[in-house]
Amino acid sequence: MESSKPQYHAVIFPFMSKGHTIPLLHLAHLLLRRGTAVTVFTTPANHPFTAKFLSNTTASIIDLPFPENVPEIPSGIESTDKLPSISLYPQFALATERMQPDFERELESFPVVNFMVFDGFLWWAAESAVKFGIPRLLFYGMSNYASGLSKVVAESRALFGPELDDELINVSEFPWIKVTRNDFEPVFRDPELKGPHFEFLVKSLTGASVSNGYLSNSFYELEPVFVDYCNRSTRKTWCVGPLCLANTPRVETDPQKKPTWIQWLDEKQKQGSSVLYVAFGSQAEISAEQLKEIRTGLEESRVNFLWVIREKESELGDGFEERVKERGIIVRDWVDQMEILMHPSIQGFLSHCGWNSVLESICAGVPILAWPMMAEQHLNARMVVEEIKIGLRVETCNGSVRGFVKWEGLEKMVKELMEGEMGKKVRKKVNEFAEMAKKAMEEGTGSSWRTLDIPLQEFCRSKD
Ligand code: UDP
Repeated sequence: MESSKPQYHAVIFPFMSKGHTIPLLHLAHLLLRRGTAVTVFTTPANHPFTAKFLSNTTASIIDLPFPENVPEIPSGIESTDKLPSISLYPQFALATERMQPDFERELESFPVVNFMVFDGFLWWAAESAVKFGIPRLLFYGMSNYASGLSKVVAESRALFGPELDDELINVSEFPWIKVTRNDFEPVFRDPELKGPHFEFLVKSLTGASVSNGYLSNSFYELEPVFVDYCNRSTRKTWCVGPLCLANTPRVETDPQKKPTWIQWLDEKQKQGSSVLYVAFGSQAEISAEQLKEIRTGLEESRVNFLWVIREKESELGDGFEERVKERGIIVRDWVDQMEILMHPSIQGFLSHCGWNSVLESICAGVPILAWPMMAEQHLNARMVVEEIKIGLRVETCNGSVRGFVKWEGLEKMVKELMEGEMGKKVRKKVNEFAEMAKKAMEEGTGSSWRTLDIPLQEFCRSKD
C-alpha cells in the first residue's frame, strides 16, 4: 500500500529489456510505499507493460519517442528481447543516447527531483542528472558475486593471459573460487575489442563514474563477502532487494480467471505431483539442435514439467507435445514467472540463471538446475552451485561450461534435482535463503529495508 502524502520525487529510468525493467518497476512500488512520488520514463512500445505493472499506483509514466532510422535496428523494436539477434544489443543501447534531448526537456519541467535511479546502460541519463544537479543512483541488476569477481579477474588481466579457455584462473581476492575464461563473455576476452561493443562498454562505465552510489538487487545475507568487497573496491553499494518481494503479489482466487498453466499446476498439486519449471529468460537464443536435446531430455526424465518457450524458439515438432501432454505443458505466452515459481507444485527450475530468475527462485524456495547461456549467467551459475549451493548444473558433453548439452546430461541432472540426494540438499539450502530474503525485505526491520533508508535520507530528508 502506498503512503498517503508523497513528499519527495524520484525519477526512475529502466533500460528497455525485461530483465532490466522488471526490478526497477518493483523498486517504483517500493518507493511509493515509502512515501516518494515516482515518475518512470519509458518508450511508447514499452508503455503498456510498464502501465500494467504500475496499475493501481500513483506513479506517473512518461514516454519518450524511441529514435528512428537506427541502422541495423528494425523500426518498431524498442526492447532488446525483440531484437532479431542479441549481437545488436550494443547498437540498440547506443541508439538510446539520442533520447537525451527529449529527456532533458522533461527533467527541466519538474519542480523538484530529489534523486534519479538509472540503469547502467543509460549512462547518458546520469550525465543529464549531473547537468541538472540531481543526485543519481546507478541500478545494478547483477549479483555482487558476479560484479566483484569480474572486477578482480579483469584487473588481474587473466582474461587476456595464455591460459586455455577451460583452465582455472587464479582469483587472488577469492582464492576458493573456481572460474575459467569461458565463464566470461567472449567480448571481454578480446584485447583488441573495438566497434559498438567497445563504445558501449566505455560509455556504460562513464555512467557508473558519475553516480552517487549503486543500488543492488540483492540482500546482504546472501553474499556478504562480495557486498563488502564491492563496497570497499568500487562505489558505495546499497543492497535493497530482492526487489521481487517489494510487492505482495495479488493471488487470483477465481479458478476461471487463472491462466491455463496455473490451472494445470493446480491440478498437479491436487494429484500430489511435483513439477519442474523450464525457462531461459527473455533474451536467450537456443539452436534448433539444442532444443531437440532439451525436448528428449525432458521426455526421458519422466518428470512433470512446465516449459515456457519464446517466439524465437518456434515449433518443437515431432509429435512431442502430444506425447507428453499428460505430464508436460508448453506455454508460448508471456507468463508471470514469480506466480509460477511460488506455486506449491513447482519443485525445481531449469534456468539460464539470469539474475532476476535466480533471485525469484530463491524467494520461492525452489532449487535451480543451472544452464547458463550468456552475459554474466555463467558466473551466476557458479554462485548458485558452488558458493551458495542452492542448485545443480546440467552436464555438457565435453565438460566445458559452454559445451553442448546432450539429452542424457540433462535427463540425469533433472532426475537428480527432482528426486535425488543432491536435490534434497539444495532444496533445504534454498529454503533457508528464502527465509532470509523475506526477513531482509521486512518493513521497518529488514536489512534491505533499512539499507534503503540511507540513500533516502541522504537525498530527501537533507532537503527538509
Ligand atoms: N519473465 C516473466 N515472464 C516470462 C519471461 C520472463 O515474468 O515469460 C521475467 C522473469 O520473471 C524475470 C525477467 O523476466 O523477472 C527476466 O530476467 P532474468 O534476469 O531472469 O533474465 P533475462 O531475460 O534478462 O535473460
